[in-house]
Amino acid sequence: MANGKVKERDYYEVLGVNRNATNDELKKAYRKLALKYHPDKNQGDKTAEQRFKEAANAYDVLSDPKKREMYDLRGSAGLNDMGFHGFENSADIFSNFGDIFGDIFGNRSYRGRTRPQKGSDLRHDITISFTDAALGSERQLRFTKSEACEACNGTGARNGAPTVCPQCNGEGRVDKTKSLSVKIPAGINNGSALKLSGQGEAGIRGGRAGDLYIHVKIASHPYFEREGLNIRYDAHIPFTKAALGGEIEIPTLSGKVTLKVPKCTQSNQTLRMSEQGIKTKDGRTGNQLVRIVIDMPKELSERQEELLEELEKLEQD
Ligand SMILES: [Zn+2]
Repeated sequence: MANGKVKERDYYEVLGVNRNATNDELKKAYRKLALKYHPDKNQGDKTAEQRFKEAANAYDVLSDPKKREMYDLRGSAGLNDMGFHGFENSADIFSNFGDIFGDIFGNRSYRGRTRPQKGSDLRHDITISFTDAALGSERQLRFTKSEACEACNGTGARNGAPTVCPQCNGEGRVDKTKSLSVKIPAGINNGSALKLSGQGEAGIRGGRAGDLYIHVKIASHPYFEREGLNIRYDAHIPFTKAALGGEIEIPTLSGKVTLKVPKCTQSNQTLRMSEQGIKTKDGRTGNQLVRIVIDMPKELSERQEELLEELEKLEQD
């Protein structure tokens, strides 16, 4: 009909309903025609096939308020402008109106229900520790999802059509509890999703499986903070060490590492520990950035006070 060669009948006329027909009336009318002209009952009958398609197109248009409005207004020319070209073949019709045929023909008729459908995508949310995210890790997931039915190899048929596989009732898939090991790459970002292709719901009747998306949340760390591949850390040191310089121990992703604090280090100064940040698999490496926080003594002994007063005098000179 896309070519406009076949003279089209009015859709209301096709379904035998009046122009104010409700959706229920449309559905009833369509079911009656679909049953009458169903390919199973009219093998090789070209006219029946034509009627079957015609009825599906009419129902598809009139049951959709937008398409119906356009059809009422401008006829099939309006529909063409909307990009609607009707169904090409019976398989298209079954995949669109499968639910209607489902209750007309029940599960006993395998023919006409053979069109495969892609399985849905699945989403799984996990929270991982800061270190697991930084260093990479492996996570074991266990959940229930549909898998291809082994009895019929996912086809839904029992030794070929027309009977359905009793194991999966013709769906080609069954629910199973699945264990899955998920590799979390080092340096994964908070809120990102890992895509596991083909690990979603199994397809129906041999259709392609959906994908599994694992959304990753990263728990905060008591003293580390992420900044891309860099790790930020605040080191508290006494003011004497800041002034005189010296060595301090800094926790890193790979354990404690000694950091040299230069003489006269200022408050809030950031010292860089090269390549002590996150290392990704593709060879990128971050640094650890250590911000110096100078701690003043909470109280002073008499001797300390004396020395500080002496220092103060020196500074004034
Ligand atoms: Zn099966």
